[in-house]
Amino acid sequence: MESKESVRRSPQTGTRNQSWDPLQSSASWLSWVSRLSETWWTRTGGASAIAAARNERLAALLPFVRANSPHYRDAWRKFPARAPLEALPVVTKRDLMGDFDRWVTDPQLTRTGVEGFLADRAHIGERLLDRYAVWKSSGSSGEPGVFVQDGAALATYDALIGVQLGAAGLGRRYASGVFGSGGKAALITARDDHYASIVSWERLTRASPWLSCKSYSVLDPLPELVAQLNAYKPAFVASYPTMLALLAEERAAGRLTIAPSLLWSGGECMTLATRAAIERAFGCPAVNEYGASESLSIGYGCDEGWLHVNADWVVLEAVDSDFQPTQPGQPSHTALLTNLANRVQPIVRYDLGDSITLKGEPCACGNPLPAIKVEGRRDDVLSLVAADGSVVRLLPLALSTVVEEEAGLHRFQILQTASDRLALRLDPEEVRDRMAAWAAASRALKAYLGRQGLPNVAVTLERDLPARRDPRTGKLRQVCVECAEPRTAH
Ligand SMILES: [Zn+2]
Repeated sequence: MESKESVRRSPQTGTRNQSWDPLQSSASWLSWVSRLSETWWTRTGGASAIAAARNERLAALLPFVRANSPHYRDAWRKFPARAPLEALPVVTKRDLMGDFDRWVTDPQLTRTGVEGFLADRAHIGERLLDRYAVWKSSGSSGEPGVFVQDGAALATYDALIGVQLGAAGLGRRYASGVFGSGGKAALITARDDHYASIVSWERLTRASPWLSCKSYSVLDPLPELVAQLNAYKPAFVASYPTMLALLAEERAAGRLTIAPSLLWSGGECMTLATRAAIERAFGCPAVNEYGASESLSIGYGCDEGWLHVNADWVVLEAVDSDFQPTQPGQPSHTALLTNLANRVQPIVRYDLGDSITLKGEPCACGNPLPAIKVEGRRDDVLSLVAADGSVVRLLPLALSTVVEEEAGLHRFQILQTASDRLALRLDPEEVRDRMAAWAAASRALKAYLGRQGLPNVAVTLERDLPARRDPRTGKLRQVCVECAEPRTAH
């Protein structure tokens, strides 16, 4: 990774990375500014202006998809050209990935070509075919995905960040961070592969030479991470809510001394209680972003504890198990996503897997965008006991990332069965050579645990299939705790 840090532009000289030059051209800058002001003006027009913008974009998107994506054209053959969105069939990641070359609307894109690009981690943040950003999703659903984004989609995601900062009254916070604290920004994420967060970060840091940005690996031991953040003193910190919660504990204990102006949380669900604890520990606001690899910004949190859907840029339908709409106040079986910004790889009535609950009445915060609550990926932090009795906290996401990246597995489960014991379950549908998969996964886990000061933790292979599901969402949980929390020794 040291090579990546050194090739990045230095903040002093502002040298830009050549690979992104076309996107930093005046044309793309103008596109970003126009998206920002367009979105801003739409929202000041209230709910009816938002609905009108959504309908107009949808009316342009659907004929485009029918004309340019053979996969959707086949799936929609029985439906008239003017069929409403709600009449069209639901698509899943598995269907679309299985027909990738006919899903995308640019014939130059092929799954083989995209996977060849993704196979080289030196390409993280670079553009495919000189015009697309590409990332893969970690297999939290047991099904890996590959997502290609065009310039218009990227300009939209960037503009939505700007609008959110404005809407949440955080613009001044942001500005004070940029001008008062040197604008230093830190991202702590799974950065060793082409995931949406690190790809977007690399892209934005290359496009913003006035900002100093550093990314840190979520796999680094917490004390190392704390020391590095203390040395860097970032004004902005972005990470998963579980990581921000761990850092809040470090801050409260006095080991972490940074004083950021703004925190950014994404990638997992953040509860109101977690957000409050994080904001209290750091004494600054935390923006709660709800996004996915399929659409980077689906919504964002407000002070009333709701998420407001970017309904001018996405359609998010709350549906039951028969894909019929659920009533406000009722948790949905799943949510169907339509991304109105990205045309190269259309997402139309895509089964997202998250359970959402619509708010029936307007939100007290005054935001005209529809408000929802989400039951999505929400994992518990693990507490393991080292040989000297100290407790080491680990992110479930770090454990699952290690197994995914090093062993190439997606459908597995890691259980904490004792304070110094983990058990692995494999899915025979994914794994042909069980012993080889176990050897790779256990080697990766032992190496990771060793780096965290936990060489004493045993890892065993369980005969059982992955089984534990989240009671709220019915989703398979990749990492779960099956034993009592050990008492903290420090
Ligand atoms: Zn609200």
